[in-house]
Amino acid sequence: MNLVLMGLPGAGKGTQAEKIVEKYKIPHISTGDMFRAAIKEGTELGLQAKSYMDRGDLVPDEVTIGIVRERLSKDDCQNGFLLDGFPRTVAQAEALETLLQQLNRSIDYVINIEVDKSILMERLTGRRICKECGATYHLVFNPPAQAGICDKCGGELYQRADDNEATVANRLEVNMKQAQPLLDFYAAKGYLRNINGQQHIDQVFADICELLGGLQS
Ligand SMILES: [Zn+2]
Repeated sequence: MNLVLMGLPGAGKGTQAEKIVEKYKIPHISTGDMFRAAIKEGTELGLQAKSYMDRGDLVPDEVTIGIVRERLSKDDCQNGFLLDGFPRTVAQAEALETLLQQLNRSIDYVINIEVDKSILMERLTGRRICKECGATYHLVFNPPAQAGICDKCGGELYQRADDNEATVANRLEVNMKQAQPLLDFYAAKGYLRNINGQQHIDQVFADICELLGGLQS
């Protein structure tokens, strides 16, 4: 079960990743975790990645691919893996294809959790935080009893600058532009499976399980 998980911010990717790895017992391989582990283990590639990150530079593809290769070669990946946050570009996706061929494997599915931009905007801009105690609310999913007032301490609720409409819209736009060539690449390969992310979390997961059920023998 060799999987790549895709989805825009707010699509529920993290939640579904947790459910997939728990049910199918495959490791969740996110780019951040992978870099942190390589750096902690002090591998040659980990140290190279660290030197770029310490300078605030992007880690070059050849280093990233090397770290992915090391990670996918580990024992816990023998029955499969769930890649999350990698690949990010078509160049990385092509490198991943080559790497998997060398390991005698191939991607089974690229699962893309689809949610309309307007709904992502609602999900991502609705967060409100208490100025006094830091409790978090959501205007739609977890609203306070009285608008603008914290249930726990009566403090005033505010919206973080990162959560405002313009910032969120821009973040989504950047992510969509980045993801589209990758989605096209995987569609052409026949790996892409779109999952409707505009349903209850449990239904989204049920749809994913239905898809993955076909892979198990
Ligand atoms: Zn409060």
